Amino acid sequence: MNSSAHSRADGRGADQTMPSIPYIVGLTGGIGSGKSAAAQVFEELGAAVIDTDAIAHALTAPGGPAIEPIRAAFGADYISAEGALERSRMRERVFADADSKRRLEGILHPLIGERSAAQVRAARSAYAILMVPLLIESGNYRARCRRILVVDCPEELQVARAAARSGISAAQVRAIMATQVTRAARLAPADDVIDNSGDLAHLRRQVEALHARYLQLAAAAG
Ligand code: ADP
Repeated sequence: MNSSAHSRADGRGADQTMPSIPYIVGLTGGIGSGKSAAAQVFEELGAAVIDTDAIAHALTAPGGPAIEPIRAAFGADYISAEGALERSRMRERVFADADSKRRLEGILHPLIGERSAAQVRAARSAYAILMVPLLIESGNYRARCRRILVVDCPEELQVARAAARSGISAAQVRAIMATQVTRAARLAPADDVIDNSGDLAHLRRQVEALHARYLQLAAAAG
């Protein structure tokens, strides 16, 4: 490491021409594992949270920048009268057809990458949480993260919590889980793990401890 180990109050690196890049922690976990719940606590503690799911939603909301490319690629049937992505129709299509999934990702991923990078650059906290549901699956985000934090809980709890949250059936949650990496494969590259098998207070205590650790690591990284 050739950068100074001093922590700088103004957050700038030694090279004043470079923008300050915050220390980035990639936050991931399977559906219903508790990523959003953990991210909310990080945010309350003062960390910038960049949520790639929220970015994807904004891109496909009425008039969002992904709408016209999606209309051109898939046809008007996938765009609602309000000009938003018809999510459930598209979900069914990409579930059934890998080529459609690749084409949709080809539209969304570069836009999500640009927007999340801009939000990371704008972050003014000592470190930033980059929340990416499919971090392990996607590969390219891993290069952007200094650490990987996985929220983990038993699969039965994932199913129960995700089904209770969104009103989709346990079978649908399991079908989504089947498209995600296994619990073991997600845990293997983790630097840090939150055990979310307990209550929300248990989750909060772990996030508080990680927050303190990330502040130290970010300061040491300069
Ligand atoms: P994810 O973002 O990983 O899909 P969420 O954070 O939305 O998962 O959690 C799924 C659901 O479970 C939400 O309704 C959330 O409030 C709830 N939940 C998360 N963690 C806990 C917990 N430790 N105890 C009880 N409910 C929880």
